[in-house]
Amino acid sequence: MTKVCILGATGSIGRQALDVCRQAGYAVSGVTAGSDHAGLLEICRDYGVPRAALHNKEAYDAFIREKSSAKAYGGIEGILECIRDCGADIVVNGIVGSAGILPTLEAIRSSGRLALANKETLVAAGSLVMDMARAHDCMIIPVDSEHSAIFQCLADNGRKYLSRIYLTASGGPFRGYSIDQLKHVTKEMALQHPSWVMGSKITIDSATLMNKGLEVIEARWLFGMAYDEITVVVHPGSIVHSMVEFRDNSILAQLGAPDMRIPLQYALTYPERKCNNYKKLDIYKTGGLIFEEPDTDAFRCLALAYEAGRAGGTMPCVMNAANEEAVGMFLEGSIGFTDIPEIIERVMDAHEPIEADGIEAILEADSAARAAARNGGRI
Ligand code: NDP
Ligand code: MG
Repeated sequence: MTKVCILGATGSIGRQALDVCRQAGYAVSGVTAGSDHAGLLEICRDYGVPRAALHNKEAYDAFIREKSSAKAYGGIEGILECIRDCGADIVVNGIVGSAGILPTLEAIRSSGRLALANKETLVAAGSLVMDMARAHDCMIIPVDSEHSAIFQCLADNGRKYLSRIYLTASGGPFRGYSIDQLKHVTKEMALQHPSWVMGSKITIDSATLMNKGLEVIEARWLFGMAYDEITVVVHPGSIVHSMVEFRDNSILAQLGAPDMRIPLQYALTYPERKCNNYKKLDIYKTGGLIFEEPDTDAFRCLALAYEAGRAGGTMPCVMNAANEEAVGMFLEGSIGFTDIPEIIERVMDAHEPIEADGIEAILEADSAARAAARNGGRI
């Protein structure tokens, strides 16, 4: 039986991955979370999972007190040990943020396939992650719907003739807003995504278009494309999940209902496709397919991500960390919506990028950028 280890099991991706495993008949050999010990306990019970790791120490202690039959692990070292002990055929990384970097590296060392949702890993440490995956012969299959779409479009056609990637973006809840209108956006408004129900961090990233910026960098590493060959196109409705253009000007697209279990299942069962009971696209109800250019003046985060990607080295890592902190501050209510790109830009302006080929350089850049962002962008 195929064994799967699910990182970030208590989150939106993690819970959908559990559902996919159940429907596909895969065994879950380990689960991890940040601090939701009650959620993890329930998952271990419901899915008969033998190993569970919690990043937070108090949460780990609380889990132990419950005397679960699952073996418990605590802290980042515990998460890494849990991944090693799982002996999983596939590791799903559904952790949010750069906290997923070390687990990604461990998954690459310990397993033959990484189903990667944690895009921040590739943004912050893309070069290191791809090099390690090659060295350890680990296949990275994207879970992000856009990258899964591209991966599926390329499956039979190869990358040889690929000339352009079109990454589709829903445009988020504020599509068409002016900079002035964006200044009055509240947390409650930003947490309402028009097409997807997701964790709070990625929902805010979708509202600022930083999510698409992170995905541009993710695509650069997964598909080896130059930034000029990756075009973002706003496509409200999220029907076309992304497109590839070949050198003969033929374009292939992947379509489907917005249900993350579809790309998740594909990442787990590839190259097979299994029947399921997930949402079906009702082709008659799609209406017209609209494609628009993104407004990078109003949605500055997308432009900043292209700038960070082109600067290279530690710059994408710094941009990502500054974004994580800025989004955290917005959710706490201490800054406004349009302060997010301003803080990121200030942190990026003050950073001199260096090579990002070692984990120390990456973790150092990440923590310095977080401190700078918390200080309003001042170093
Ligand atoms: P959620 O916030 O719903 O879940 C995040 C998970 O990560 C939770 O299990 C959480 O545990 C865990 N976690 C948080 N902090 C840490 C930490 N420091 N160490 C270890 N684990 C931690 O996020 P999503 O599921 O929405 O997103 C996960 C990733 O997938 C993100 O990178 C996102 O960009 C990407 N993604 C998500 C999509 C979606 O539809 N949700 C679509 C495409 C990509 P706890 O519950 O204890 O806090
Ligand atoms: Mg996506």
